[in-house]
Amino acid sequence: MSEPAPAPRSPPPLRPGTLYLVATPIGNLEDITLRALRVLKECDVIAAEDTRRSGQLLAHFGIRKPLLSYFKFNEARRSADILARLRRGQTVALVTDAGSPGISDPGERVVRAALAAGCRVEPVPGPCALIAALTASGLPTDEFHFVGFLPHKSGARRRELERLRLLPGTLVLYESPHRVERLLGELAELMPRRPVVLARELTKKFEEFLRGRPAEVLDRIRQHAVRGECVVLVGPETTADSPPAHPTPPGS
Ligand code: SAM
Repeated sequence: MSEPAPAPRSPPPLRPGTLYLVATPIGNLEDITLRALRVLKECDVIAAEDTRRSGQLLAHFGIRKPLLSYFKFNEARRSADILARLRRGQTVALVTDAGSPGISDPGERVVRAALAAGCRVEPVPGPCALIAALTASGLPTDEFHFVGFLPHKSGARRRELERLRLLPGTLVLYESPHRVERLLGELAELMPRRPVVLARELTKKFEEFLRGRPAEVLDRIRQHAVRGECVVLVGPETTADSPPAHPTPPGS
């Protein structure tokens, strides 16, 4: 007779006084992790960048929990509130609009404040647009520089691009859909020979990767109005096995 399978060990309870950074889906709700769901269910309070959006996510998973808004314009005040709760031994889960808190969103400030106050901070890893785009880009992943959003003003933007083009490895930029054409125009001018990948609507129904030199990708998005969130990646000029210079059709 075979031995009965050992009973699964239940995960340890949340630690009092801990700030949990909970990554949430960037489009596909199936990407939530089991641990993220447990932390969201068991924490005392959830600090959310957009309480309406996070409320929908929580409702989808049947989680009811007090929500505290924590966004760009109240982060100083809210950080103090979150710290006070942590000091009282509460567990606080931080979620931002989508993806991993702290990556180009207001998460960073409260993490620093919590650490400075001697509180425990635990990541609950999961979706992140930067990693999803980079891993499927076909560009070098051994060395990359995450840029996030460029400044909006022309002068500062150009100076930043001039600086970035000297860096080795792959550059990873976040860009809003209405500025992506501008960004590709700038790349066509400043880094015309570098391979570019435009990763848009990651994990969603219309996920698409456009690959080519900056001018080729720019032509393509001018022909077909490109909508949705995007990550723009720029490979090094010397990439021996750079991805094909023609854009890839959707779904391939
Ligand atoms: N913290 C998030 C993360 O972990 O990726 C990023 C937050 S930042 C405010 C939002 C930017 O991430 C968007 O403007 C876009 O550049 C990128 N992004 C988020 N979701 C995406 C998606 N599904 N497809 C492509 N890019 C996405």
